[in-house]
Amino acid sequence: MTSAPRLRFAPSPTGFFHVGGARTALYNWALAERLGGTFVLRIEDTDESRNSPEWTQGIIDALGWLGINSDSPQFEGPYFQSHNADKHIAAAHRLFEQGNAYWCDLTSEQIQERAKASGKPGYDGFSRDRALGAGIGHVLRFRVPQGLTVVHDLVRGEVQFANETIEDFVLLRGNGSPMFLLANVVDDIDMAITHVVRAEEHLPNTPKQQMIWNALGAQPPLWAHVPVLVNEQRKKLSKRRDKVALEQYKADGILADAMVNYLMTLGWAPHGDTEIVSWSTMVEQFRLESVNHSPAFFDVKKLEAFNGDYIRALSPSDFIAACQPWLTASDVAWTPAQFDVAVFALVAPLIQTRVAVLGEVASMVDFFFLAEAPIDDASWAKAMSSEWARDVLDECAREYATCDWNHDSLKLVLEAIGAKRDLKLGKVQAPLRVAITGRTVGPPLFESIEFLGRDRTLGRIDAALLRLA
Ligand code: GLU
Repeated sequence: MTSAPRLRFAPSPTGFFHVGGARTALYNWALAERLGGTFVLRIEDTDESRNSPEWTQGIIDALGWLGINSDSPQFEGPYFQSHNADKHIAAAHRLFEQGNAYWCDLTSEQIQERAKASGKPGYDGFSRDRALGAGIGHVLRFRVPQGLTVVHDLVRGEVQFANETIEDFVLLRGNGSPMFLLANVVDDIDMAITHVVRAEEHLPNTPKQQMIWNALGAQPPLWAHVPVLVNEQRKKLSKRRDKVALEQYKADGILADAMVNYLMTLGWAPHGDTEIVSWSTMVEQFRLESVNHSPAFFDVKKLEAFNGDYIRALSPSDFIAACQPWLTASDVAWTPAQFDVAVFALVAPLIQTRVAVLGEVASMVDFFFLAEAPIDDASWAKAMSSEWARDVLDECAREYATCDWNHDSLKLVLEAIGAKRDLKLGKVQAPLRVAITGRTVGPPLFESIEFLGRDRTLGRIDAALLRLA
C-alpha cells in the first residue's frame, strides 16, 4: 500500500463506553501513530434509538481521557454513519445493477416455512432468478458467489469461509434502509480506510463484507480481529454481569495512564519482563501480528495492581492533585469547613503507597478531618471484644498524655504496654487504631496519631473508653 494508512474506530453509541471498545480504539490509535497514519472516528448511529448527541460527546470524552485527543492532527472526524445513508443506498443500487444483488419479497414466515420444508436453515436463495424489482417490503439481497472466501487477518492469519455456508444476506431492508454490513463497508470505502482493526465478534461479517468490497471494485482493507474480553468465569464481558463501562473505572479512581497500559496488554504484551511501560514504548512495539488469538481475561484485580503502581509513581504533588476530585466529591464524610488541604498534603504520602484506586482515598483520611472517629461497627466489634482492650486503652491514655510526641515514641510506648501483657504490637494496636481512625485498616497508625496531635488523640481514646464502659 502506497498511501498513508487510514485506520478507524467505528463505535455504535450505547450510552457508555465499553472497555473492549476502548482497547480497540487504543490499538488503532497506537498503529496510526507508529505508521504515521490517520485515526478516523466514525459514529455508527444508524439505529435511531442509539442516536443521541450526548452519547457522541461521551465517546469523544472517553477517547480524550485515554489520550486519543480529537485535536491531534492524527485524528479525523467524527463522521456520522447516518449522514451517509444516500451513499449506502446508491451503492446498493449499483450492486443490483451489476447483478451482485437481487430483490426478494419473501416474508420471514415464508423463509422459515421453506427452511423447515427443506431441512436447511436460513434463506435458500428463492428469489435469485425471479427478476423482481424494488417494491414495498422487498429486501435487497447480496448474491453470494460460489467458491471460497479467504480473509487474511493480521491477528488470526488466513481464515477460510466456504461460500455455501453464507446465505444471500440482506443489504437493504424492506423499508429501504441500509443494513449494517453494507453501511459499514460503504463508509470504509468512502473514507479510504486501509486497516480495519475491530472486535473478534465481527469476524463472521468479514467474508460478507469482503465480498461487498470486491463487488464495489475496491481493494479490501487489511483486516485484524482482536480477541474478545472475558470475565473470571471465562464468559464474554457483558454489561448485565460485569463492570464494563470505562466511565465507571474512571469514577472509581483508575488513572488514565494505568487504564491505557492495562487495556493495551489485553491480548498483547510489550517486550521484556514488565508489562508496565510508557505509551511511546507501546507504540513502538505494538504489532497486530503479535496479538493473541485467545480470549483475554479482563482482570479487575490486575488493573488495580497496575493502577497502584501508577499511583506510587506519581510525584507527591501530582498525587495530591489527582486525589482532588475524590476529596471534593458530594459523598465525602466531612464538611468543606472541616477539610484542610495542608493536613491532606501532610498525610498524603502515608496513603499514596497503600491505595489501589483513588476512590479509596477519602475513606482512608476522613478521620483526620472529622470531629470524632468515624466508628465502623464491625471494626469496633472485632477490635474491642478482647478482655484487655479497655485496660490497654486506659494505660495508653495515661502514657500518651505525657510521652514525646513523635511516631517512634508513640510506637515504643504502645509496644511496652503490650509487652507487660504478653501481647505483640500487631495485636495491641487494634483497639487503638479503631479508637483513633474508626476502622481496623488504614494508614500507618503512629504517623497518623502524630499528625492528629495529642489533644485530639486523647479525646478519641477517652471517647472509646466511654463507649466501652
Ligand atoms: N459499529 C460496530 C460496533 O460497534 C463496529 C464495526 C466495525 O468496527 O467494523 O461493534
